[in-house]
Amino acid sequence: GSGDMHAEVVVLGSGPGGYTAAFRAADLGKDVILIERYSTIGGVCLNVGCIPSKALLHAAKVITETEEMSQHGISFGKTKVDADELRSWKDGVVKQLTGGLSGLAKQRKVKIVNGWGEFSGANSIDVQTDDGTKTVTFDQCIIAVGSTPVELPFIPHDDERIVDSTGALELDPIPKKMCVLGGGIIGFEMATVYDALGSEVTVVEMMDQILPGADKDVVKPLHKRMEKRLKAIKLKTKVTDVKAQKNGLKVMFEDADGNESSEMFDKMLVAVGRRPLGATCKAEKAGVKVTDRGFIEADHQQRTNVNHIFAIGDVVGQPMLAHKAVHEGKVAAEVCAGHKRAFDAMVIPSVAYTDPEVAWVGVTENEAKEKGMKIHKGVFPWAASGRALSNGRSEGLTKLIFDPEDDRVIGGSIVGTNAGDLISEVALAIEMGADAVDLGHTIHPHPTLSETVNFAAEMFEGTITDLM
Ligand code: FAD
Repeated sequence: GSGDMHAEVVVLGSGPGGYTAAFRAADLGKDVILIERYSTIGGVCLNVGCIPSKALLHAAKVITETEEMSQHGISFGKTKVDADELRSWKDGVVKQLTGGLSGLAKQRKVKIVNGWGEFSGANSIDVQTDDGTKTVTFDQCIIAVGSTPVELPFIPHDDERIVDSTGALELDPIPKKMCVLGGGIIGFEMATVYDALGSEVTVVEMMDQILPGADKDVVKPLHKRMEKRLKAIKLKTKVTDVKAQKNGLKVMFEDADGNESSEMFDKMLVAVGRRPLGATCKAEKAGVKVTDRGFIEADHQQRTNVNHIFAIGDVVGQPMLAHKAVHEGKVAAEVCAGHKRAFDAMVIPSVAYTDPEVAWVGVTENEAKEKGMKIHKGVFPWAASGRALSNGRSEGLTKLIFDPEDDRVIGGSIVGTNAGDLISEVALAIEMGADAVDLGHTIHPHPTLSETVNFAAEMFEGTITDLM
């Protein structure tokens, strides 16, 4: 038809995976079209994920730290929240980043086509644009369609009081009583936000701990602190039914012993996981294999079963994290441009930006136990860190996991303020094959939280005996 287009590389989806791949391919001399259904690029991460949630978590931290300092002689009066102003600040942060990306796309002559795209063959995608359907043809394609929140069949998702993470980020309204279904990273981050903004929050989790991916001892300081702040953290509990009534949402719970109970809420966040979007873009019409669950499998070069079609990011599998998508996007673009490149990261860090933060990378104790691996560990409690104490936040813990054969660092977990920033040193240590002596003999600035990594290595070596 008229206005049909062709590019050497077409990227479907403009999240962190997609825009990274598009920019990298353009930088390597390819002509590139980026297809995105929404009017702003950046995908889930920039628009309704990582970035807006971190803006709200920053506000939450300011509020709770202020409240807590009132016990130490500094008080500012009762917190007043203007949800409209907070929302527009958050939206402004997002806009600054998505606007920046549009500029970067223009600089590189990456052409953006807005509209829903579906494969119509092995070398073409039909895009439903505002000016009708346009066919975009390609030599190579990178699928970066990401994921969307899982809905549960017994929950009336059409009721506006029941939201997913996107709805929760809107803060409209900030309810009196909130139920968060799912104690994973997204659920617990949003629980942290709503608690600070004044809601009475109940978190419900089926497993026996919040943040099920992290070690129990590492989650404990977060659990302990939030148990005091939240209305309840219900573990080993299922939500079995939700009735949307005029006066609220009636939520039915069932605990591990089969006991049932119910409670009324004004708002419910359903955060029980994310579903990959491999099937909705009709990838199978291009011959690409899509699993029953909607994932698209890719090899270590991000290639699907179809040689000239690649897949990256959430649609490829766990962990569904932006930094993984970015890394895979670079690999796919470089392979498209003929470079010898493969995904060879040894580890991918995970972070819950709760308060305190929880971060882990590489081998966890849980995983070692499951796989019957022998490990050694060095643990440093933050109660002995001068900096943590002077921050008024000494509940943290830094744990390093070592290979007993050669003392190399193979994993680490940190809970405490700024744990998400601190974990990168452990990731670097693993990638570089550093051992306990390397970390123990590296001079860290005093007094910093980064010293806790140094001290955890020294704890393992036995070179610290007296903690204070
Ligand atoms: P996405 O970001 O999902 O982007 C896919 C894009 O493709 C979307 O813009 C979509 O509109 C578009 N698209 C899909 N299908 C089509 C189609 N057929 N036609 C046209 N366009 C299409 N990760 C972190 O690492 N750190 C965090 O702090 C973090 N916080 C998060 C907080 C929340 C509330 C949520 C929901 C997620 C968070 N994540 C975080 C996860 C992170 O957002 C994702 O891992 C990341 O966005 C995945 O990137 P992606 O490129 O695979 O796809």
